[in-house]
Amino acid sequence: MIVILLGPPGAGKGTQAERIIDHHKLTHVSTGDILRSSVKKGTELGNKAKEFMDKGELVSDDIIIGIVEERLKEPDCKSGALLDGFPRTVVQARSLDKVLEKMGRSIKAVIYIDVDEEEIISRLTGRRICRECGASYHLNFNPPQVRNVCDQCGGGLYQREDDSFETVKQRINVYQEQTEPLINYYEKNNLLEKVEGNQDIDEVFKEIKKILEN
Ligand code: ADP
Ligand code: AMP
Repeated sequence: MIVILLGPPGAGKGTQAERIIDHHKLTHVSTGDILRSSVKKGTELGNKAKEFMDKGELVSDDIIIGIVEERLKEPDCKSGALLDGFPRTVVQARSLDKVLEKMGRSIKAVIYIDVDEEEIISRLTGRRICRECGASYHLNFNPPQVRNVCDQCGGGLYQREDDSFETVKQRINVYQEQTEPLINYYEKNNLLEKVEGNQDIDEVFKEIKKILEN
């Protein structure tokens, strides 16, 4: 089964994904994580993507669609995939529909995590990420047990370059212009499941669990 996590940057998609994959047979596919890993390795794709990511812009649809298509063919996605950060444009959503049709697969649900702009800014500016496994923490709302150390793998935590106040504002604009139309797209296809994201992490997860169990 294919499940999509939709929502603004900072909605809690990565945080919920960590919990969802513990409960369901889904592989977490985060396009942001894939791109950051390419940036870290200094690949051609990484160097190209970094320019856009640092400015809070989207990487081109062609590149992203190619990455996701290849990723979905890998054996660990056979029993199911949880897409986080993809699709982000209507072009990406249409391409995903075509790719899934070719594979004989379909989307089970699109979970839309709705969060206020003020909350997004405080979440993203206080976010810290594990350098090794990509787990997401927050200085106040979800701190690690030991300062700057990942609970899951012991890796060091860092602040993403694109989590600065100015870039966050730009990412919110990009989200509103290019990604928000997907709410309507998936509503029309009867796939949208809206979740109240302005609650604490466990409460949001309870709502998501209910949707996936139905
Ligand atoms: P996304 O993947 O949607 O960009 P993250 O899962 O990385 O967002 O969450 C953004 C930040 O907000 C992180 O620092 C995370 O710890 C924190 N966070 C996530 N969900 C909540 C929540 N429900 N309440 C408060 N903070 C949250
Ligand atoms: P994220 O980790 O989802 O917040 O993504 C970080 C950055 O990676 C975004 O600001 C974009 O520059 C890029 N990115 C991630 N996913 C996509 C996508 N589906 N389409 C285009 N760019 C993406």
